[in-house]
Amino acid sequence: LSRRDRVFFALPLLDTAMSNRPFSPNALAGKVCIVTGGASGIGYATVKAFLQAGAKGVTIVDLSADAINRAIDALAQELGAEVKDRLYACAGDVSQEETAERYVQETIRQFHRLDISVQCAGISLPSTDVADLKVSDWDKTMGVNLRGVFLGVQQSIRGILETPRGDGEGGDAAIVLVSSQLGLDGYAGSAAYSASKFALRGLMSSVAQEVGPKGIRVNAVCPGPIETPMLEGFSAEGHLTKGNIKRAGKPEEVAYAILFLASEASSYMCGSSLKVDAGWSKWC
Ligand code: NAD
Repeated sequence: LSRRDRVFFALPLLDTAMSNRPFSPNALAGKVCIVTGGASGIGYATVKAFLQAGAKGVTIVDLSADAINRAIDALAQELGAEVKDRLYACAGDVSQEETAERYVQETIRQFHRLDISVQCAGISLPSTDVADLKVSDWDKTMGVNLRGVFLGVQQSIRGILETPRGDGEGGDAAIVLVSSQLGLDGYAGSAAYSASKFALRGLMSSVAQEVGPKGIRVNAVCPGPIETPMLEGFSAEGHLTKGNIKRAGKPEEVAYAILFLASEASSYMCGSSLKVDAGWSKWC
């Protein structure tokens, strides 16, 4: 490499080091992304990481317009007002069929393409032994965590394939599903949640085989206990130390793994479940 080329290649790394970002500011340059559940916790941290990685546009999908607008204001506060131009709000319940169709079509209308879809919206109802689990709670959990993700994946694939790409195929597109360490091991009192997160990996694995050959990589992350509003409703005390790092994870520690799976840094990964749980799950 010439001296000029060395400087050119070093610049993004320097920028990364100076800005406290553990990834290149160009990792998602030009990419248009959807993040469901993006108003809070892991989803919010993912939107932030995507913006910092240079995403052209990010649609935040969440239940309430107010929550999304608060998230957009917080992102503008953290990253600068210019990020508002790269954000789009889409309120809706992901378990409803029309929501997924709407957020995909509105994203394409707003930013003219779709490259990345992160299915992060999820719920965890209070811990209950299966003998006492209400059928309505089972249905609600499956509705958001599994049906909502199926609908989002289906519509995202359609939207990504609509997007014109240089090579005539899907190009470098990615879908990331947010499963859980409980989707690898299960957990007493969390039958519905665990079952939904196991099933989500089955969905991921099948879909990866269908669309991987078309240039859409599909993978999942399996976080351990992460400090978000969801963890407040989950009796994880005493279990936080089960991993090899004796604390709960931070939302951005999952967001960086999602960014990795969304970016070309993971270009040979399709059909993988990536654990981000400090080694709590003993599954490989
Ligand atoms: P969170 O509660 O902070 O965020 C979840 C977001 O999803 C919220 O903004 C919520 O409004 C949204 N949402 C819920 N139901 C929705 C619906 N029907 N339609 C649209 N949006 C909806 O929780 P989090 O911890 O950031 O969770 C994000 C994902 O990570 C979830 O799928 C969760 O199961 C998974 N996860 C979390 C942990 C953890 O310990 N926090 C561990 C493993 C996996």
